[in-house]
Parts: sequence; C-alpha cells; structure tokens
Amino acid sequence: RGLDFKKLVILSVNEGILPSKPSVNSFIPYNLRKAFKLPTQEDKDAIYAYHFYRLIQRASDITLIYNTENDSFGSGEKSRFISQLETELPARNPDLQLIQETLTFPSAKVPLIPVAVPKTQELLDKLQLFATEKGFAPSTLSTYLNCSLQFYLKHILRLYEKDEPEETMEDNTFGTVLHGVMEKLYEPFVGKMVQVSDIEAMDAQVKPIVEEVFRAVTRTENFRFGKNHLLLGVIRNLVKLVLDLDRADAPFAMQGLEMEIETQLKTLRQPAGVKLRGYLDRVDLVDGLARIIDYKTGKERRVELKDFAEIRDGTEKREAFQLSFYSYLYLRNQEKDAEVRTGIYFMRNLSKGLQFLTIGPTKANELDLRSLEDFEAELVMLLDEIFDKETPFSQTEEADRCRFCSYKVICTRS
Ligand code: SF4
Repeated sequence: RGLDFKKLVILSVNEGILPSKPSVNSFIPYNLRKAFKLPTQEDKDAIYAYHFYRLIQRASDITLIYNTENDSFGSGEKSRFISQLETELPARNPDLQLIQETLTFPSAKVPLIPVAVPKTQELLDKLQLFATEKGFAPSTLSTYLNCSLQFYLKHILRLYEKDEPEETMEDNTFGTVLHGVMEKLYEPFVGKMVQVSDIEAMDAQVKPIVEEVFRAVTRTENFRFGKNHLLLGVIRNLVKLVLDLDRADAPFAMQGLEMEIETQLKTLRQPAGVKLRGYLDRVDLVDGLARIIDYKTGKERRVELKDFAEIRDGTEKREAFQLSFYSYLYLRNQEKDAEVRTGIYFMRNLSKGLQFLTIGPTKANELDLRSLEDFEAELVMLLDEIFDKETPFSQTEEADRCRFCSYKVICTRS
C-alpha cells in the first residue's frame, strides 16, 4: 500500500478475486445495511478499486494475468478492472499500449483415479438399515440412477452441502413457499368438494397467505423491498394461474395434501421387503377419478414414457420416474381395481396446464396396478442392483452429470 513500482506483475486478476466475491458474514440484510449506512459489498468493492488503481498509478509496465479456465479456482472471467482499463484508458492516455496474449500450457495429463466403493458387509448392513428405516423415495432412486457413487455419498455417508444463509430467496425456498401456499389455500377443503365459487373466493387470500408462508419458511420479514418482493409477486401470479386452471376442473373432491404414503416391496435380495415412500403434494378426485398433482418450479421435462425401461435414463426421465413411482405408491394403498392419473403443474409453463404421465404409443394416462407391473419389475431390478454385493458404487460414465455435482472434487471429476 502506498508504494510505487515501475514494473508490476499482478496475478489472478479475475472476477471474484479482484474484487473478491460477495460474502455474507452478517445477519443484517442488505437493505437494512444500506438504509442505516452500514458498510455493504459496494463499499468493499470500492476499497479494492482504490488499492488497484492506486497501485498501477505510477507504473510504466504492467502485466495483469488472469485465468480463463472455468475450474475450481474460479469462473474464468477477467476482472471488471481489466474491462474498465480496456474501454476507458485508451481515450485518456494516447501513449497507452495494450497488448493481449493468451498463453496455453500443454496440460500434464493427470490420470483420473477411478473411484469405486466395494460393498463390504458393513456397507450392506448400512444399506439394509436405510431400506428398512428411512426407505427409498423417488428422489433417492433418481440420484442412484444418475450416479451410484453420488447416491452412496449423499444417502449412505450423508455428506451434505453446508446451508448458507440466503440474502434473497434461493430456488428451493421459492418452491417451498409456493407449495406451502397451495397447501394452505386448499387445507380447509380436505375431505370436501371444492366448488368454482370456493376457488374464486381464494383470490383475495393469495396475498396474505403468500406473506404468511414466506414468514414461516424464512423466519424473516425480508419481503417488502428488493428481489424477494418481486419474487413474492411472481409466486402470487403463479398461484393465481394454477387456481384458474383448477377452476376449469371444478367441482372436484379434495382427498389429501402433502400426503406421506409408503409401501413395502419384496425383491429377490430383500425377500422381507424394502420400504418405498413419497410425499404427494395433492390428491383430488375429478368425476370420481383420482388425480395426483405435483407442483414443480424447476425445469420442464416431458413426462411421456415409451415403456418403463426408459426410467433408467436418469436425469432426463426424472419427473416421469417420479410420477410412475407416486402412481405405484398410491395404488398400492388403494382397493385392487383403483385407477389414477398423475400429473405435474410445471410453473415455468402453466400454459400447457396439468401435464399427465403417459405410457406407450397410446399415451395412456389412466393407470392401475396391472398397467404398472412393468414398472414394479424395473423397481425390483433396480433395488436388487443396489443390494448386489458384486456391484460397487461407482462413478457415472456420463461426464455431463458431474458438471453440477457437489462431489466432483472428491471424484477428481472437476
Ligand atoms: S462427480 Fe460425477 S461421478 Fe462423482 S459423484 Fe458426482 S456425478 Fe458421480
């Protein structure tokens, strides 16, 4: 600080390093800090800017080096200070010479060390405990289908990511609030008929309920300004769109909300049975036919299956697998001849309405236990593979699935 150099070489002039990434190390939210003139991230950025420009002020030969690789060291984006120098400095200093060079080094091939976890007796005992006590939910099995090693790290070793405090609503909080609002709106109707007039009356309740659920989920009042304020507006609009769609199907009977159901499935390796469980967002009866509804705020994916063997396709068929699983769970808890339709309201595309799971070329969407026999067979195979002593938990072959995986450093797949 305060020193002048003729020649300067500065390393890591990357966004996120110079200036550093915003870090939340206070419980006082941004808007409050701003209002009470407490230091904010902008002040921190200004200090970085001061030191940077002060340092280069009297130098005549400056080399700024940044990493262009998007890897565990950063996003590969050059610092905003370099962009500023490139755009603003030539106009102010006619003697300036800007030279840009991209340097590449032949990569010393680091051999990827394959990671596989053999199923020892101790591990099989843990799996057994998991199967009988916790049980398999569709998300658990989807993780396995995505990568069996990921399943092991997440569900058996229970290595979770650290929960960071949220300044503004993250995707999962957005989803939790939306689910909570739909539940609260329909709660008084469980076991009753929902008429068109009931849905129309809900319109006025949407705003206070959205705020009430937000408070309960986040334990803050942080929704009056800024991004959270806008996101709550988005939730209100989405809820109203769902209610519009529901109105077209009314009257219907509300059977249950956030229903936790389970069943036991016997397999070759688990003759005593494995617990399968799931949460159904909503079950209602339209014209006497049961309908399981799931609300999704994430990416819209097709929920059509050519046959149940397709559920092995991992991420791409994740939602179709989940809906098949819910149909199976529900029907196992009903009379033998019961039928059900299972669909998703994709919040990102409500113009398509409720998208039902369809099977085969006829796109059948009314399912009974007989039509789910192939699904049951796939489940049995999948569970037996999980309990197969000879099949270790190993890395997925599809490198693409590792891109957003939290375990990629452990896996040397980063
Ligand atoms: S990084 Fe890839 S191989 Fe490793 S656990 Fe994640 S998905 Fe599996």
